[in-house]
Amino acid sequence: MESNRKQLQCSACGSTNIRSALTAESISVPSAESEIVSASEDTCLDCGMVGDFAGRNDAIIGAALKRAESRAVENNLQFLSSMGLTMAYMERALGLPQRTMMRWKTGEHSAASIALLQMVRTYPWLLQVAEHRFDRRYAQTAILEQAAVVIHSALGSTVGISHGTTGAIEGGVIVVWYSSGQGINGTPRVPQSDLVNTSSVGMLHAGG
Ligand SMILES: [Zn+2]
Repeated sequence: MESNRKQLQCSACGSTNIRSALTAESISVPSAESEIVSASEDTCLDCGMVGDFAGRNDAIIGAALKRAESRAVENNLQFLSSMGLTMAYMERALGLPQRTMMRWKTGEHSAASIALLQMVRTYPWLLQVAEHRFDRRYAQTAILEQAAVVIHSALGSTVGISHGTTGAIEGGVIVVWYSSGQGINGTPRVPQSDLVNTSSVGMLHAGG
């Protein structure tokens, strides 16, 4: 879409011989549908300068970003709620004042609250770590448990690694590997886990 806009003035040479076009800009925020907005692109036909001579784009893009962020907050709260995580529980676990998340939901959110919600949505088990006051050992065990869940799910295995197994790891290393062929005694895809007590490096081999 193009039009001649005589009221615009080139910010470089002052010419009013400007060609104005609208370009579609996509505003994207995690967990929210993209917002498509029309941004202005003005070209000075005398000196070739290209820009947003009327300064309209910042407000348009800022408003779209705000809408996308509000939807991300709503979507993430809805997702967490569908997992059975209530706002009251999450606020308690994270040490937030009561009704904080309700305020976020009704539009009073900040960049920090958006980031926190996105992290909790991505790693919901962070809430349990927070509930345990970020105890280092609990946090490490939670990471290994989650890694096991991801590997098992990726390989379609029905074998579970119990809390007891990973809970036994104390400053050691769990080495989990799978082979695509047969495991011990001809059983396919059974994880072989070993506890090594010597370093803090973890290795997870999947597939093969
Ligand atoms: Zn110009």
